[in-house]
Amino acid sequence: RAKRAGRGQYACFDPSLREQVAERIGMESALRHAIHHDELQLYYQPIVSAATGRIESVEALLRWHHPERGLIMPDAFIPLAEETGLIVPLGRWVIEHACRQAALWQRITGSAGPALQVSINLSARQIAQPRLVDEVRAILQSMPGDDTRLHFGFEVTETAMMHDPQVSAETLSQLRRLGAHLSLDDFGTGYSSMAYLKHLPFDTLKIDRTFTRGVAEDGCDRSIIRSMLALADGLGLDVIAEGVETRAQQQALLALGVQRMQGFLFARPQSAAVIERMLDDSLKALD
Ligand code: C2E
Ligand code: MG
Ligand code: MG
Ligand code: MG
Repeated sequence: RAKRAGRGQYACFDPSLREQVAERIGMESALRHAIHHDELQLYYQPIVSAATGRIESVEALLRWHHPERGLIMPDAFIPLAEETGLIVPLGRWVIEHACRQAALWQRITGSAGPALQVSINLSARQIAQPRLVDEVRAILQSMPGDDTRLHFGFEVTETAMMHDPQVSAETLSQLRRLGAHLSLDDFGTGYSSMAYLKHLPFDTLKIDRTFTRGVAEDGCDRSIIRSMLALADGLGLDVIAEGVETRAQQQALLALGVQRMQGFLFARPQSAAVIERMLDDSLKALD
């Protein structure tokens, strides 16, 4: 009854809100449809060794090709997927496709060099779901050619773990036992309690691009990054700087001792086919 009254109120007092609700419901069913109708695509963005330019890993980034609206970026639909729970099947799709791609690339690079790692973003609801571990295990078991260990990883933000730190920590530990590399994404922007860095099994800190942005001219950003590097060093974590767009930022980061970088300066997120060409080229350069 109360719900009814609530709905009536929307209708009477705020037509724009009603439009928003209708829009949301439309998006939700469109997204549900997208999962089963081949409208989703993973792009991959290289993470490079800044000194050599070598591609060390790639981050999988989701894109939605909406039949009418065209390309939709994740910030425009991941939050909705989170709220509605659609992130669970959506996330499973992402993990499965990213792992399959990692297995294919691993076969290409094969003996020619170290395996390319594929990193997958996880959101709050996914980490809070204990079944995630079983799903990942099943996906790994279904991979063709189990002769080598798959090089893959997950990225989570501090905020995503905040909802249930204990369950998140347990899930992450189990994922790590399955062989996943773990990165703390957007580091420095969440409500970080450094205390749980100690308890969580991370391998890598990703410095958020808000700090990268000013690194060349802003002493404060440099100080923050310096202290992040000291923290990472003390805890035995690797570091990646996100959002590197200019040579000046690259130089400033190198001077601070950051080795691995990701950003438009090196490469934008690309389709798997384009990444494959980049890998071929860098393998040829090795010959
Ligand atoms: P993120 O995980 O922090 O990913 C990095 C974002 O920064 C990507 O945006 C990437 O395109 C963008 N970026 C990379 N280099 C630069 C740069 O030099 N300058 C600027 N301005 N931006 C750069 P994208 O692809 O739009 O993804 C946004 C966010 O959506 C991601 O942030 C991640 O939180 C989320 N997301 C993307 N794919 C997935 C997914 O498959 N699952 C989940 N749960 N979340 C995802
Ligand atoms: Mg990420
Ligand atoms: Mg990030
Ligand atoms: Mg982000």
